[in-house]
Amino acid sequence: MRFCIIGHPVSHSLSPMIYTRFFEMKRIDATYEALDIQTGEFPSVIDGLLKEYDGLNVTIPFKEAVVAHVDSMIERSLRAVNCIFEGAGHNTDWIGFSHSLRNIEIEEPVTILGAGGASRAVVYALKRSGVHRVNILNRSPARAERVAEDFNDGNFEVKTFSIDSLRPIVRESKSIVNATSIGMKGERLDLRREDLQGISLVYDLIYSETPLQKVARECGVENVIDGKAMLFFQACENLKIWRLFDEKVFERAFEVVTG
Ligand code: NDP
Repeated sequence: MRFCIIGHPVSHSLSPMIYTRFFEMKRIDATYEALDIQTGEFPSVIDGLLKEYDGLNVTIPFKEAVVAHVDSMIERSLRAVNCIFEGAGHNTDWIGFSHSLRNIEIEEPVTILGAGGASRAVVYALKRSGVHRVNILNRSPARAERVAEDFNDGNFEVKTFSIDSLRPIVRESKSIVNATSIGMKGERLDLRREDLQGISLVYDLIYSETPLQKVARECGVENVIDGKAMLFFQACENLKIWRLFDEKVFERAFEVVTG
């Protein structure tokens, strides 16, 4: 079988190493490649890739754009897909995010940075888990407003703000989720230690150490979580969809690669 992850950039992804290791350990005759697709060439290549590969993962920035190219969608209201198999678009990010927070109480309001595919998965997971109040801050306000329109209802309030309001909004929040790529290359958010005093959870979807995680730990934030647990649990779901899952072996493969 042939699998791949498409994105831009994609070189940071650990998925090729993790799945390749898993296939080797299980003696499964399969490959997993990383394909860096320029944004402009996505519309002309995506349908060919869907035919060429047995299964695909989709990462930054194509999770929303790929929705128009799948035959059916499992989590339709989420409008973002990160795993494709047999023509069906799945979202396993939200399951990964939910599972990684199983034993943690999420205090509200929750402030989410970002309004892309990963942010949508986070909002969907929070809504399903019973959270009622979410703030979204994004560089492009219109994109945050579209997420709010898609998820707002009588029981679930999504407010949107400019990223320039980061400090005052964080001061009124209990939990923060970074669903942007800010921090992947060491970039800093405009946050000071005093802004984090009332925060009980900092969840950064980036799986390497970032300045946000560092400052949160230094401030004594009770729960500081990076993206590895979410990556692990969403990968488990992908393997279940591809009918290749073996929990024990996958745990070992993941551990070997992420150390
Ligand atoms: P998208 O491309 O769909 O969205 C990216 C988001 O980040 C947008 O909100 C974008 O704002 C914002 N952003 C990007 N660069 C900047 C910047 N320089 N300044 C301000 N905002 C910026 O990507 P995804 O939603 O798919 O992924 C977001 C992050 O989450 C990535 O780092 C990805 O690696 C991580 N992720 C981790 C997972 C895990 O398992 N741990 C799973 C899924 C994602 P704008 O709309 O204005 O462009």
